[in-house]
Amino acid sequence: MKIFIDGKFCNERDAKVSVFDHGLLYGDGVFEGIRAYNGRVFKLREHIDRLYASAKAILLEIPLTQAQMMKATVDTIRANKLRDCYVRLIVTRGIGTLGLNPRSCKKPSIIIIAGKIQVYPAELYARGMDIVTVPTVRNLHSAVNPAIKSLNYLNNILAKIEANNAGVEEAVMLNAEGFVSEGTADNIFIIKKGALYTPPLYAGALYGITRGTVMELAEQSGIKVAETNLTRYDLFNADECFLTGTGAEIMPVIKIDGRIIGTGKPGPISKQLTEEYHALTKVSGEPI
Ligand code: PMP
Repeated sequence: MKIFIDGKFCNERDAKVSVFDHGLLYGDGVFEGIRAYNGRVFKLREHIDRLYASAKAILLEIPLTQAQMMKATVDTIRANKLRDCYVRLIVTRGIGTLGLNPRSCKKPSIIIIAGKIQVYPAELYARGMDIVTVPTVRNLHSAVNPAIKSLNYLNNILAKIEANNAGVEEAVMLNAEGFVSEGTADNIFIIKKGALYTPPLYAGALYGITRGTVMELAEQSGIKVAETNLTRYDLFNADECFLTGTGAEIMPVIKIDGRIIGTGKPGPISKQLTEEYHALTKVSGEPI
């Protein structure tokens, strides 16, 4: 595997970062997870825009233009001769002193890894997922804004551990007011009486690229879409529920906190949107 580090490709064995990189010492940095399907990078422009928006929010100046970053991403996939893959873009604050002050970091580091994607088994998509809400509250947007895709994922990891402890695959996080925010690495949607609902960003959600795509697909099919605060009650009484993310794509949810959702099987609108999403991934994107 060829890994891009600061403008050079190196082998997996030599792909190392300094123990003084503030990405490691403090989680000071930002990242993206992107997928390529059928020789095209899906929604590359949107992912690059979000990377630079996250970096701007933490005053991290990425030492490449957006066009150069897009090219580096495509070049990394090409160097690995991949057509269907997952790409991880990472920008760290760079090497500094042991103190947390980012002023000691003179140059941010850019890492691009293109590898195989680990997906959930097909049976799970067919059956639907059992999830729980967890005690760990989503970061306040006035603290570390969940819209920033930062290297500091402890909030999400704690929620994931709580899902593991509950014996399920995924957790839904609520915000400090008790409204639904999102999964640990996915956005959440419900369907009620034919309309699609998802929490607004201010509820503590990441501006998910898959979320945006699914909203567009729904609107194109004449399905009403609304961003609105949701409670656990709304989740329990939904007709359908699903999670969205670059890795998971669209994952139907059939049980939440022991309550069966809808018929207990992936519903028709979830299935329709999944088919439309898969069709789109096959034909659109930046050619490799
Ligand atoms: N929320 C969080 C916390 C995430 O890390 C992600 C990305 N995996 C998502 C939502 C989904 O975003 P996207 O559709 O852009 O992958």
